[in-house]
Amino acid sequence: MTFVGIDTLAKAPLADGDVFVGGRWQAATDRRTYPVHDPATGELVREVSAAGPRDALAAIEAARAAAEEWRATPTRRRSEILHGAFTLMREHTDTLARLIVLENGKAYRDAAAEVGYAAEFFRWFAEEAVRVGSSFGDAPAGGYRHVVRKHPVGVTAFVTPWNFPAAMAARKIAPALAAGCPVLLKPAPETPLTALAVAALLTRAGLPDGLLNVLPTDRAPEVVGVWLGDERVRKFSFTGSTATGRILLAQAAANVVNVTMELGGNAPFVVCEDADVDAAVHGAMDAKMRGGGEVCIAANRFYVHTSVAAEFTAKLGAAMAAVRTGPGLEEGVTLGPMINRAAVDKIRSLVDDAVARGASIAARGTVPDGPGYYHPATVLTGVPDDARILHEEVFGPVAPLTTFTDEDEMLTRANATSHGLASYVYSRDVARALRIAERLEAGMVGLNRGLLSDPAAPFGGVKQSGLGREGGREGIEAFLETQYIALDWPTAL
Ligand code: ADP
Repeated sequence: MTFVGIDTLAKAPLADGDVFVGGRWQAATDRRTYPVHDPATGELVREVSAAGPRDALAAIEAARAAAEEWRATPTRRRSEILHGAFTLMREHTDTLARLIVLENGKAYRDAAAEVGYAAEFFRWFAEEAVRVGSSFGDAPAGGYRHVVRKHPVGVTAFVTPWNFPAAMAARKIAPALAAGCPVLLKPAPETPLTALAVAALLTRAGLPDGLLNVLPTDRAPEVVGVWLGDERVRKFSFTGSTATGRILLAQAAANVVNVTMELGGNAPFVVCEDADVDAAVHGAMDAKMRGGGEVCIAANRFYVHTSVAAEFTAKLGAAMAAVRTGPGLEEGVTLGPMINRAAVDKIRSLVDDAVARGASIAARGTVPDGPGYYHPATVLTGVPDDARILHEEVFGPVAPLTTFTDEDEMLTRANATSHGLASYVYSRDVARALRIAERLEAGMVGLNRGLLSDPAAPFGGVKQSGLGREGGREGIEAFLETQYIALDWPTAL
């Protein structure tokens, strides 16, 4: 077991390399590396080992070698290790948050919040680990009994995105380990360092070698292809775009691998005529601007009742224009750079398209001079239904506003999407709010709340936003197989 200090991860290549397999840090087998950049400057952070197919195979072998003992490890012990990871993550919040800012760009305040959120997955699943249990019943026909057992599904492979480098890894790693499964993780190429830090902390918390293998790389299809082509990998969990999810779902079909998919969203944010407008603006800032809007549950489209549209637009516009944009570590900054140049270009093209179709820019913040991939906080009004921005994930700090008068008509527009991850409703009338919430085709609804994410609640989408749930009671189920044993034990007369 090799300990690595997480404060060293950002500075230089690890002496032995960054591929973490079987508890050892090593170079990629073919010694390849690739560059990781700081979105606030565009400059190189450092070269990172780029794992390849042979490393992917070695990781499966390391996971298999560790699987039996972990499966047999009492859940109380698994729980203690996860609890240790929770404590260590909290202790190292500042170092981890700085690492997130360095490779992802988000504002420090968001990065620190992400570390807190990520740590909570370890606490929640430390608590869940000991509550899996089995069930028992009598066969209605008499003569025998039912024993229903829950077994760990086996070796699990994860692919995570760059927008929450700590939390998306934690949301998968914690329940898998709690359930008794070894993990293979391929973090996003843009943000490998945070995932490596999570591995370093779990090692410190006492996780035995081989149970968490982290393979940074810029050749994702080669690594993931090995995993999905190997029958020893029994579970695949992906968070990322719907387009990539579709490809990986097809690949997972070959071996009928159990999958969880957390894909893209297109969240409507509904402000009813009886909404508390100040609260709605506050919630809109949370739902739109957390992580710079590079969030799959970010409010993507606003439906504002005409009777409150002027007030909501003015107040949201003032809040957005006042957003301080800059490098994530700068004091007072709440909006950092986007992940890369392509992301800024895409957001710009969505804004340009909306304006070309008749939308107006009602408010716009400023961005710093100099390098970095910045896009100003922007409010668009009068966005027509055919604008691309209402149909594609913005993944940036732009709020497109539309208005409505009739609830049914608004719901038809809000549901006219192939996505169904998050949604938000503001109304003082509980009956109305619940009625709208139930009719929105979405896996999650924020009612008079702009923040939804909670490790203790089931996160996930309907339609093309995904399959399965992460977090909550459901989160650990994704890593368990059910086995039914028919027990020849006649019922007593
Ligand atoms: P984005 O475009 O924001 O990077 P993706 O869904 O493409 O979103 O990426 C999410 C994750 O999926 C990343 O870790 C990325 O490396 C990985 N990924 C992308 N394409 C593939 C692929 N063909 N096979 C395996 N992993 C992939």
